[in-house]
Amino acid sequence: MKIVIIGAGPAGLSCAHHYLKNNKKDEVILLEESDCVGGISKTISYHENKMDLGGHRFFTKNQEVLKLWFDILPLQGKPAFDDKLLGSKKNYDGVLDPEKIDEVMLVRNRVSRIYYQKKLFDYPVNFTFHTIRKMGLITTIKCGFSYLKALLFKKKEKNLEDFYINRFGKQLYEMFFKGYTAKLWGRTPSEIDSSWGSQRVKGISIRKVLLDYYKRLFHVKNKNREVSLTDYFYYPKYGPGEFYEEMAKRIIKMGGTILLQSKVTKIKRDSNHIKEVVYLNQNKRHTLSCDVLVSSMPMKDLLEIMNQVPKEVLQVAKNLPYRDFITIGVLVDHLDIKNDRNNNTIHHNISDNWIYIQDTTVKVGRIQIFNNWSPYLVKDPIHTIWIGMEYFCNEGDSFWNLEDYQLKKIASEELEKIDFFHGKVMNMKVIRVKKAYPAYYDSYHNISMVKEFIEGISNLYCIGRNGTHSYNNMDHSILSGMIASHLIQTHSHDLSKLWNVNVDKTYQEEK
Ligand SMILES: Cc1cc2nc3c(=O)[nH]c(=O)nc-3n(C[C@H](O)[C@H](O)[C@H](O)COP(=O)(O)OP(=O)(O)OC[C@H]3O[C@@H](n4cnc5c(N)ncnc54)[C@H](O)[C@@H]3O)c2cc1C
Repeated sequence: MKIVIIGAGPAGLSCAHHYLKNNKKDEVILLEESDCVGGISKTISYHENKMDLGGHRFFTKNQEVLKLWFDILPLQGKPAFDDKLLGSKKNYDGVLDPEKIDEVMLVRNRVSRIYYQKKLFDYPVNFTFHTIRKMGLITTIKCGFSYLKALLFKKKEKNLEDFYINRFGKQLYEMFFKGYTAKLWGRTPSEIDSSWGSQRVKGISIRKVLLDYYKRLFHVKNKNREVSLTDYFYYPKYGPGEFYEEMAKRIIKMGGTILLQSKVTKIKRDSNHIKEVVYLNQNKRHTLSCDVLVSSMPMKDLLEIMNQVPKEVLQVAKNLPYRDFITIGVLVDHLDIKNDRNNNTIHHNISDNWIYIQDTTVKVGRIQIFNNWSPYLVKDPIHTIWIGMEYFCNEGDSFWNLEDYQLKKIASEELEKIDFFHGKVMNMKVIRVKKAYPAYYDSYHNISMVKEFIEGISNLYCIGRNGTHSYNNMDHSILSGMIASHLIQTHSHDLSKLWNVNVDKTYQEEK
């Protein structure tokens, strides 16, 4: 069999890897448009500082995915550079020393907060004395009453706003969720489908947050903790891209082929069967026949390059919405934001991995502090701080079209405005990421038409985040690649298994 896979992101790579482990005789060819593997989970290097496009937490409840992660990058057994300098007392389950070996998975503390009214609040929201002091007594009481109201008068969840209010009350929703969500999607939460909430904020509510807090206070074990509440995650020494580069090496070792700079531009179909794909490599057109086609390219693009797609289906696919994203790496020699936590860092500032910017007077939506993800991402992690300022926009809008120098100016000005940094920036890098977020509005409501059409093509399997138009994390994308491989091996075409990854509240193969 000849299996052609479009896209060498987490989904495409995991499909190839899983398939080749069991079927070395079959031919597996990955076609990747860009010049590297990893998709939007790649890591970019700029003047020896490495940038994660967003911060990619490796966290999963799925044992098969976890096993794959540790098989490719075994867990650390000795402290990393910063833990060593700080004398952190952690228990490491692995054996490898990250100071000596590069192919290693680190265990990192998760710290993320919300910046609101010039103060930092714990995220997930936490009812400690610190939070109440920062909110003030009156606001805290208002939050309590609005939460009680939400408990007593549950709204019918027609949209994301209802979803949040039912779980947190109106006051907390307006303080901590509304502004950021509106920045992220460019729409108010009342215009967004509530299913986004059930995928992203799965199972989280004030009740669970409080329960979790008190369980931790009294050292009660909670093996069913919600993903959003975990306080650690795994992270490759050199960022997520390192994991996918290692995976690609294994695929090639097992006989697979990865063709970079190979953009698929046409898909030729004979009634219900894909016959061949056409791709462009260095301006040369190539045709490749296939027995099975696995696609992790955006659904919208897939249908646009396929022949004989019914007009109504094509219309829905063409209008599937996405949100795009610009991230700006900024290198500074210090941060001015006040470190009001006891956590130590080797750069003597905040220990947050990322901060949600709920302040609506600036456009920046989230700030990553790469030093705290892994000290190995930064060339000089003691004397410099390498941050990522994230801006959500739409490809082709006025923000997207700004020149790099204009974007850098906005980023520097906004850092000053929110009192994060006053001074001279040492270096900056602008990265534009198309289709970073598949969105759940507009023609998304008719996506079943597109799915039904795809189901009718006997040798096509759609996987991954944009491939299934589903707000997937890496683990879901990886899992969908594995499931597709399994379906192909068992000659099954039950695509509901792919659509349902990350739809079920607790997804299928979870332990
Ligand atoms: C800001 C941000 C933060 C995130 N944080 C996390 C996190 O903390 N944890 C987590 O688990 N996940 C996180 N994610 C999600 C994660 O990035 C995705 O789930 C994952 O990368 C999706 O993998 P994929 O293979 O489905 O798609 P992609 O990564 O998009 O890969 C698809 C690949 O297909 C290629 N392609 C597209 N069209 C063509 C074509 N015509 N021909 C050939 N190739 C093509 C693309 O170049 C790309 O390489 C985050 C995402 C973003 C945007």
